[in-house]
Parts: sequence; structure tokens; C-alpha cells
Amino acid sequence: MAYDPDNIFAKIIRGELPSFKVYEDDHTFSFMDIFPQTRGHTLVIPKTAGEDLFGTEEKDVQAAIRTTRKVAAAIDKVLQPDGIRIAQFNRAPAGQTVYHLHFHILPVFEGVDFRHHNTEQADMDELKELAAKIAAEL
Ligand code: 5GP
Repeated sequence: MAYDPDNIFAKIIRGELPSFKVYEDDHTFSFMDIFPQTRGHTLVIPKTAGEDLFGTEEKDVQAAIRTTRKVAAAIDKVLQPDGIRIAQFNRAPAGQTVYHLHFHILPVFEGVDFRHHNTEQADMDELKELAAKIAAEL
């Protein structure tokens, strides 16, 4: 699939759509998922155009993984989950719905099931508060 420069995440990077940002550097951007599967579900994206793991230059994938590790460590401190899952989907049959490479950071709380992917919108006040707490650790 060709990269669409008007996908949601490209618009978030350009500031054309709002997001609850937790971290940004020259190469990457991280923000709260607004349909979280679990409390603290956060996304990390490279700033460069690339639809998935294979359509993105290796250096940009590396930058995104470095940021994923950094943001996940901050989430670990703030939310103290029992575990953290990192997920990344390539193409629709694998579950991809937004075609700009992204890594999911999913805190795992024992005994709490994940909500379905891309379904229930979060409470915006709670997301804002969480984003501020995570950002403060970075
Ligand atoms: P994918 O299914 O492509 O792996 O993940 C896309 C993710 O983007 C989903 O987890 C979905 O909840 C999230 N998402 C979809 N639209 C928006 C949006 O407008 N803002 C934010 N912050 N996340 C979104």
C-alpha cells in the first residue's frame, strides 16, 4: 500500500489533529492512544513517512524503537503495571488500521482483560492527566 501523507498519524505529527503528547524528539513522536486497550496504552511513531515496518527506513525504525523503550520505562514507573507488552502490526490481516509505522506500548495488569482493538474511546480528562504524568518522567 502506498503511503498516504494525510493519514491520521501524519496529521498528528504536523499538528493538524490534536493528541495527548508524552514525548517528542527530532525523529520520533509519542502520544496516548484514544481507544486504549489497557490503561496507559501509548503509541510511538517515527516522524518520517513509512506505512509499516518494511516501508520505513531502518534508521527511523531504530529511532522509534529507542523511543519505545524510553517511553515504556516511564510508563513502568508511573503506572507500575505487572508487565508491558509491545505490539506492532503490518497490514490489515495482522490488525493494522493506521498506515504509518507505530509501536503500541500496552501496560498489562494481572486479572484485567485488554479491551478490543480500536473500539472504546477513553475519558479525555484521564488521558490528559496520564500523558502529563508520563511526560514528567521523560
Ligand atoms: P493499528 O490498528 O494500526 O495497529 O493501531 C492504530 C491505533 O491508533 C489503534 O490502537 C487506535 O486505537 C489508535 N487510533 C485511531 N485513531 C486515533 C486518533 O485519532 N488518535 C489517537 N491518539 N489514536 C488513534
